[in-house]
Amino acid sequence: MSVQISCAGVLQCDVLIIGGGATALIAALEARKEVDDVVMVCKGKVGRSGNTIVSAAQFAVSDPDSPDSVEQHFQDTLLGGQGINDEALVQLLTSQVGHRVRDLERYGVPFVRVKGELRRQLSPGHSSPRCVSVQAGDYPKATQGLSITLPLLKQVVSKGVRLIERTPVIKLLVEEGQVCGAIALDVEGQQAVVLQAKAVVLACGGGGRIFALTDNTLDISGDSYALALEAGATLRDMEFVQFFPAYMTSPLKTIIPTRLFAQGAVLRNKAGERFMPRYDPDRAEMATRDVMSRAIFLEMQRTGERGVYLDCTQVPPEVIEQRHLALARVLQKRGLDLQKDYLTISPAVHFIMGGLKIDGQCQSTVPGLYAAGEATGGLHGANRISSNALSETIVFGAIAGRQAVSFARETKGSTPPATGMGLVVHPRKGDISLHEVKEALRQIMWEGVSIVRSEGSLQEASLKVRGCRLALERCSVSTFTHIVELLQIRHMCLTAEAMVASALLRTESRGAHYREDYPSSDERWLGSVHVAKAADQLKVDFVAKGENVLWPDCTSTRESRF
Ligand SMILES: Cc1cc2nc3c(=O)[nH]c(=O)nc-3n(C[C@H](O)[C@H](O)[C@H](O)COP(=O)(O)OP(=O)(O)OC[C@H]3O[C@@H](n4cnc5c(N)ncnc54)[C@H](O)[C@@H]3O)c2cc1C
Repeated sequence: MSVQISCAGVLQCDVLIIGGGATALIAALEARKEVDDVVMVCKGKVGRSGNTIVSAAQFAVSDPDSPDSVEQHFQDTLLGGQGINDEALVQLLTSQVGHRVRDLERYGVPFVRVKGELRRQLSPGHSSPRCVSVQAGDYPKATQGLSITLPLLKQVVSKGVRLIERTPVIKLLVEEGQVCGAIALDVEGQQAVVLQAKAVVLACGGGGRIFALTDNTLDISGDSYALALEAGATLRDMEFVQFFPAYMTSPLKTIIPTRLFAQGAVLRNKAGERFMPRYDPDRAEMATRDVMSRAIFLEMQRTGERGVYLDCTQVPPEVIEQRHLALARVLQKRGLDLQKDYLTISPAVHFIMGGLKIDGQCQSTVPGLYAAGEATGGLHGANRISSNALSETIVFGAIAGRQAVSFARETKGSTPPATGMGLVVHPRKGDISLHEVKEALRQIMWEGVSIVRSEGSLQEASLKVRGCRLALERCSVSTFTHIVELLQIRHMCLTAEAMVASALLRTESRGAHYREDYPSSDERWLGSVHVAKAADQLKVDFVAKGENVLWPDCTSTRESRF
């Protein structure tokens, strides 16, 4: 007996956008300026899912009327990325983000302005105050990013973009080496949908959910990377996983904004010692996220504690009142006073620096497939500095939308293959549940591919991840929901394998990738690890960075202090 998943039919469009966060919304708006037929397909609800909505809604944009400059933003981004960023992408980000922020304002996204000027704040990794925020309005702190997505959603709907929601894409369709659409599963209708498109923009975000402790939303489980690998695309920099240093797990789960560190907050250990100056004497709590996370992790290991303590007693009360009122109020409801009580925090997986290899037109290595946002790699190099991710969504979302239209206009289009559209699954009773395999995988990644890695931890993780993939064959699968879950855990396993293989190859420490067996950076690794699928295997290659490297002289910060 088998479960036949029926196909709801073939839906045709010019440009298909996969995802429903800031990147996808901007890509859809740009594409819709040029062509009539734009479709967005989303695992969750468009504009109400993904990491954009839980973000702190901060964008990095330099101010041309101050000592800051596009060039300085460029240099800071390279410094954070430890020299392996794709400099053409960094150039695009830093030079275009100001224009895109103005577009957002025109679309109704309410940025904080003081006396008519965007309010710019200093954040870790930036040498000047250049981080601008969106007003949270009445949205709860946990979903303040809705103040970005909902105005964009309104625009998208008013411009007639078709939305297909709660319908995760499970496969990209490739014909004659060109991406020509996707297959998605309509969770409510319990059927497959074939989406045929002249060009596709992949904007499914990152993959924090592959790890046990993360601040990412439930739907962000590495689909971008697995879909791309299965379609034959190349990924880069998958070993670089950013841990957010200040994640509070109890009494509530929330990230603590790192700009508090620029406003006087410090970190202390159990003994009350302010320990960051021991790890980074120059920058202390203003160090980049990789340095902070590693210091906290090592301090937790040293003291055997489950976290370290955030001390905000020196943050001026008016700053709390004006800038952190929402957080202070949420804590107050749990009996904590941000001004007086220490908060227990630990690092959590926050952002994936790696992703699809793209060029300056957001073209992936497979014709017809464009990508942008957290789905892609290269912009941030080995480590992202704060607020550059949302800037990335709007700059590259717009480029991807426009370039997908150009491609759609030029291609004659391919017909999706006739086979493989419906799905036939043989129900089976197994000895293990899908949930158990998923949670085991997340724990393996948290332990083995963590803030501090080694050949041993990575080899063990590699074996165990493969074990998870095999265990999936022993799981009970009998309903449509099980099938959706099974396919998504397969994606998680594939993404995890790409991360582990990349981390094993890079025998040095750089940015967010710290190998205790190779604790220093090594010039020979100034370049990127590329991963692609070849004959059902993952193939990893190191590609040295080309000439004309503009990597600033920052030798002192490249030497690891741990
Ligand atoms: C707690 C938190 C705070 C942050 N704060 C900031 C900040 O202040 N500034 C900053 O620069 N960055 C911040 N970031 C990072 C930033 O929010 C993200 O990198 C960015 O929002 C990613 O946008 P995106 O559109 O690429 O992906 P997302 O916003 O994550 O959207 C991905 C979309 O793809 C959909 N999707 C996933 N899989 C599929 C599939 N198989 N088929 C169809 N759809 C799919 C999802 O449902 C979702 O709609 C923060 C991140 C977190 C977690």
